[in-house]
Parts: sequence; structure tokens; C-alpha cells
Amino acid sequence: MIDGCTLCPRGCHADRKERAGYCGALSLPHVAKVMLHQWEEPCISGVNGTGAIFFCGCNLRCVFCQNHAINHTMTGRQMDASLLAETMLALQAQGAHTIDLVTPTPHVDVIIPAIKQARSAGLFLPIAYNTNGYETIETLDRLHGFIDIYLPDLKYVTPATAERYSDCGDYFSFAAPAIQAMYEQVGELTVDENGIARRGLLIRHLVLPGAVSETRRVLEYIAATFPITTHISLMGQYVPMYKAGLYPPLDRKLFQREYARAISHCIALGFKNVYIQSLDSADDSYTPLFS
Ligand code: SF4
Repeated sequence: MIDGCTLCPRGCHADRKERAGYCGALSLPHVAKVMLHQWEEPCISGVNGTGAIFFCGCNLRCVFCQNHAINHTMTGRQMDASLLAETMLALQAQGAHTIDLVTPTPHVDVIIPAIKQARSAGLFLPIAYNTNGYETIETLDRLHGFIDIYLPDLKYVTPATAERYSDCGDYFSFAAPAIQAMYEQVGELTVDENGIARRGLLIRHLVLPGAVSETRRVLEYIAATFPITTHISLMGQYVPMYKAGLYPPLDRKLFQREYARAISHCIALGFKNVYIQSLDSADDSYTPLFS
């Protein structure tokens, strides 16, 4: 990286061989956890679980971050492309239905050669790119042909909300075209005879306490931009974590009535393929422990 890293919209030009950028990541990824993960959407986890690889480093600073233990702390094992490829193959051997690359953006330079190696060594599982959505078109272009399933968040439309909660006032101006580029690469979500995702786009949105109006804007944008059959995961699992206590109303769980309003809006807009959750899932025991 002669000019430093520009993998994401932060464009902070860090020479990651020498020092971390905004995301905290160095050249080689730290992997905080590798596991068969049961709690992604059913089409991703299936019965056995998805082969989740949790990377350290994140280009957002969400005050409610559910993975704060790893997102700005380099922990776990450093992996080069060969070790990452071996890890994907090991997850396949354990029965994973998919490979789930969690917060992968800062590590695309290692992920692409790892996928090439793993594919040539027999990896046949679909690979999911599980991202916060804050991406550049240039990085997504490099991923074309390597990623089967895009799992982007679409967190906010409103710049002030994105700035307050994620230190990212220009979030939507990058996430919106990024998700369109993902759709152009992989199209709508398709599943196999067992309901496991093979290819396509699944947009995630976490409903935040006191922010159902933000959710409405997100859903209205999706409805106006993508086919109404686009798969959406409308998540109600919010749990106050990290610095959320300093940002009321993020210091509480979602009210049932707030989630119900979000679901009603989804229905009113006519979406056909929406995952919803039981609010029983709003429990930090569903968050993997990182050690
Ligand atoms: S991926 Fe990290 S180092 Fe690279 S531009 Fe983004 S924040 Fe900066």
C-alpha cells in the first residue's frame, strides 16, 4: 500500500504495515473468534450453523456496538491468507452451511487471496460478506466474483443520527450506492432446497430504541430502490451495550410497540421477504463471547 489504505470511505491512508488506521486494523487481520454460529438468519445459519470468522477492526464507532470487545481492540490470532483459507476449509469440514465473514472490510487484501486458495483446495460453501454497509465501490469491485452473499446493514438515512451514534455523518451517502453495487453483483437472494442461501443480497436493519422514524426512512428507501421481493432482516435484538448508557434512549431495550410499528411499516410498504425476530432474542447471551 504505497499511498496507505483507502479500502473504506474513511480513506485514512494509514500505512498499516506501520500503524493502524481509524479502524484499528494492521496489515494482517486479527481474528477474534472462529465458530459455528447458530444465530444469524436461518438461511445463513441453517441447522448446523454458519462458519463465522469474526475479524477485529471496524470503520464505524457505534456507541451501542454489540462486538465492542473486538472491534477496536486487536485480539485473537493474526492470520495470513493461507491460514484464513485453512480456517474456511476447517469450518466446511465441521458442517457449516455457509462461510460468514464478519466485519471484513479492512481485510479485503487478505480475504481475496484466501478465498482463491480455499476454492482451489475444495471450498464449495457460499461466502457471505457481513458488513456494516460503509463501503466504497472500488473495494466492492475487487470483491466481484469472490462473494456469493452480501449481508449489509443499512443503519441510517439521516446524517445527524449516523454522526451521533456511529461517528459517521456520511454513512448513507456511501452505504446506499454500495448496497446497489452489491445487488448488481449478486441479485436477489436465492436459497437451495433446504432453505440455505446460495447467492444474493440480504439487507439488515437493526431497529433502535426511540428511532422508529429512522427505520421508516430506511425501509422507504429500500422499497423505492430495490425490488419489493428483496430480502430484509428487520432486527429487534437491540441490547444496550458499550457506551449506550450515555446515549438515552439507547440505554434501554426496544419496546415491543416500537418493533411492532417497524414491522407494520414493512408490511404496509409491501415487502414480501422479511425476517423478523422474537424480542426474546434481545439478550446478550446471543452475542458471542470473545476471548
Ligand atoms: S479500512 Fe481502516 S485503515 Fe483502511 S481506510 Fe478504512 S478505516 Fe482507514
